[in-house]
Amino acid sequence: MKQNIAIVGSGFLGMTLAMRYADAGAKVTLFESAAEIGGLASVWDIGDIVWDKHYHVVLASDRHTRNIIEEIGLGDEFRWVETKTGFYTDGELLSMSDTMEFLKFKPLDIISKLRLGATIFYASKVKDWKRLEKITVEKWLTKLSGKKTFEKMWKPLLKAKLGEAYKETAASFIWATIQRMYSARNSGMKREMFGYVRGGYARVLERFGEVLVEKGVEIRLNSRVDKIERLDSGKVRVTPAAARRHKDVKPKIVPQETKYAKYQTATVTSPGFSAGFMTEPNPAKPTVRQFPRNSSSDIFDRVILTCPSNVAAKMLPQLEKTERQDLESISYQGIVCASVLMKCSLSNYYVTNITDDTPFTGIIEMSAIVDKREFNGNALIYLPRYVAPDDELFDKTDEEIERYFLNGLEQMYPHFRKKDVVAFKISRVRQVFPIPTVRYSEGLSPMKSSVDGVHIVNSSHIVNGTLNINETVALAENFF
Ligand SMILES: Cc1cc2nc3c(=O)[nH]c(=O)nc-3n(C[C@H](O)[C@H](O)[C@H](O)COP(=O)(O)OP(=O)(O)OC[C@H]3O[C@@H](n4cnc5c(N)ncnc54)[C@H](O)[C@@H]3O)c2cc1C
Repeated sequence: MKQNIAIVGSGFLGMTLAMRYADAGAKVTLFESAAEIGGLASVWDIGDIVWDKHYHVVLASDRHTRNIIEEIGLGDEFRWVETKTGFYTDGELLSMSDTMEFLKFKPLDIISKLRLGATIFYASKVKDWKRLEKITVEKWLTKLSGKKTFEKMWKPLLKAKLGEAYKETAASFIWATIQRMYSARNSGMKREMFGYVRGGYARVLERFGEVLVEKGVEIRLNSRVDKIERLDSGKVRVTPAAARRHKDVKPKIVPQETKYAKYQTATVTSPGFSAGFMTEPNPAKPTVRQFPRNSSSDIFDRVILTCPSNVAAKMLPQLEKTERQDLESISYQGIVCASVLMKCSLSNYYVTNITDDTPFTGIIEMSAIVDKREFNGNALIYLPRYVAPDDELFDKTDEEIERYFLNGLEQMYPHFRKKDVVAFKISRVRQVFPIPTVRYSEGLSPMKSSVDGVHIVNSSHIVNGTLNINETVALAENFF
């Protein structure tokens, strides 16, 4: 008989697993609490475009991401662009895109620059990351680069991503970041090339959703799972929260069809009914596939949870005490990330690293990579601020954050005018990635949980890499 598998979470981890298990002949149900698929890589409409809620690029070395995109039929749609990097330091915007610019970089004296360069080179050569997991990033970088360079460069950059948690973070964190940076250069293209799929992740998700529906995966949007229990029969029961009123939410694979849409895909969930629809190109004669919910569909042979560890722990009353403690003890870092669609560009840098104290912790100019025609001629900029899950920024209103962030832009860029902002939207996520503290991997619970038939697989299992879709897909492939 077909294995009946439930997967909780429709991020890239859940979607990749759903595809692999469906291909292997299982009956797969994908539960997603949001109204659309994609998780951190999901999309929204901002102004008159549909684009990623959080900035996403693909590196040439992202083998797993490229394979999965190839597999869903979009491999020919990549665009590769050489990127430039900026630094905002001491109130000045400087380019730091090649060795010459690095050597001319004013904020550091020549000795500090040589030590910084040597640190990065040395980190790129280290293979034994476990050794680096045993010491703090502060201690390691100070030893290699010197106190002055640590305070001037490393500390602001670490704080930008980790906040005060940088103090507990292991050196393996910066090692993984440098390894990723190097892999971008060593992937055959020799220069730092970043890529995107025409249409962005909106298009990737639209197609991924279609492929999953074609393979018979039942996608249940607006379905937050509340409880998972092992039954005496050996099966596992999944209990979603009471369905929200259908008229309140418009569940769809992506919020609206992209201009590339070949099919229109939507999934509808209402009490007692769950369905995936796919219409073929001829809208006059649509083909509708339905997956009516039957009464036994909430009982599964196996359940795989891909949500954050503490969320998973809450759903599982039968977990062993020590495992629950381990899952709940993982600290996460969150983000408040603004998408700004505007009439003019800020710069030609994809990433501007900031070492000064500004409202946001970096600037990502998506339109420095993506053809502006994708944005109807406008520029798309992201202003992320990585914060702890209990940071007060989460409680500020959209208007307060908009004012705070745009005032920051006004101070940094003399040519920036608020009237040029076409649309401004804010994403808030309290749990983006686990903080890789010292000896982090040693305290990690196994993916097979103490509740038989239930697995917990999530970004906490990325122990020697940074959080990115390539690592996420690799994790799914290794688990499968
Ligand atoms: C600001 C930012 C920038 C990034 N930039 C890049 C980049 O440039 N390149 C790159 O490759 N990667 C990037 N990433 C990382 C990438 O987005 C992640 O690696 C990937 O999306 C993680 O997928 P996931 O499936 O593990 O987790 P998630 O995407 O978090 O998926 C988990 C899913 O579980 C759902 N869920 C949670 N609880 C429940 C519940 N109780 N019931 C049902 N569903 C539930 C959530 O709604 C979510 O959809 C970036 C991430 C962020 C935040």
